[in-house]
Amino acid sequence: MPLIPKSHPRVKSLLIREKLVNGFDKGLVAKEGLLAQGRGEAFDYLLGEKTNKSASHAIKAAAAQLLVAEMPVISVNGNIAALCPKQIVKLSNQIKANLEVNLFYTNEKRKQAIVKILKKNGANKILGTKSTSSKKLPGIDSARRIVDKDGIFVADVVVVPLEDGDRTMALRKAGKTVITIDLNPLSRTSQTANITIVDNVTRAIDLLINESKKLSKKNQKSLLKIINEFDNKKNLRENVIQIKNNLTRRAKIA
Ligand code: ATP
Repeated sequence: MPLIPKSHPRVKSLLIREKLVNGFDKGLVAKEGLLAQGRGEAFDYLLGEKTNKSASHAIKAAAAQLLVAEMPVISVNGNIAALCPKQIVKLSNQIKANLEVNLFYTNEKRKQAIVKILKKNGANKILGTKSTSSKKLPGIDSARRIVDKDGIFVADVVVVPLEDGDRTMALRKAGKTVITIDLNPLSRTSQTANITIVDNVTRAIDLLINESKKLSKKNQKSLLKIINEFDNKKNLRENVIQIKNNLTRRAKIA
């Protein structure tokens, strides 16, 4: 990894970028995944590269939703495997959710590389790896319609960090409650999910783990209250306003 001085104003962002480039070199990340990261970085910049109040609010709702879920599943793609393999395994243990490898640009070699890194980080059970377990989600026209019959196919709540809009819509049509983590509050995924955490996955997953731990002491009624009081559209609007306010502030000092 090239040396990035700690004093660099964009050090965190550059280190995340390096992780993704390393993930690409190790065969985890698709070329398109690098581009998706670029889009994410731009929004992170506009959001101030920190977890804002609206994201914290969405994280709380997501934790409550995961705690009341009967069969939660976390979908893992190359970017997640490269950026936060340890955290995603930790989250799956914390909320007792299955991990399912699900790739938009499907590729057996890449899938195996992702499985390997998840195992190295402590995952025992990983779905989405056997062709005999494949099922097709209706209403979507890509390799991503393939899901595991014991995973996403039967899940009630699906976490899809960095998902594409078509698949999020297909998951919603299939009756799933969808939680996403997406830095772009305007993306189709953000607009379609039930709960959108507008934050960088590298910050949000640890916060989601902590919030799940905290809320695990609450009863079902309190958790349902948190979920029912959460309004995703309103939360997305607040994120757009946050970007607007950040830009207005910058315009004054530029
Ligand atoms: P959609 O189909 O939902 O409109 P898209 O076509 O804009 O999405 P994709 O390339 O399918 O985008 O998915 C990448 C999404 O993930 C983008 O919205 C991007 O902002 C977001 N993203 C990229 N890197 C990160 C990250 N590290 N943390 C959170 N979100 C990220």
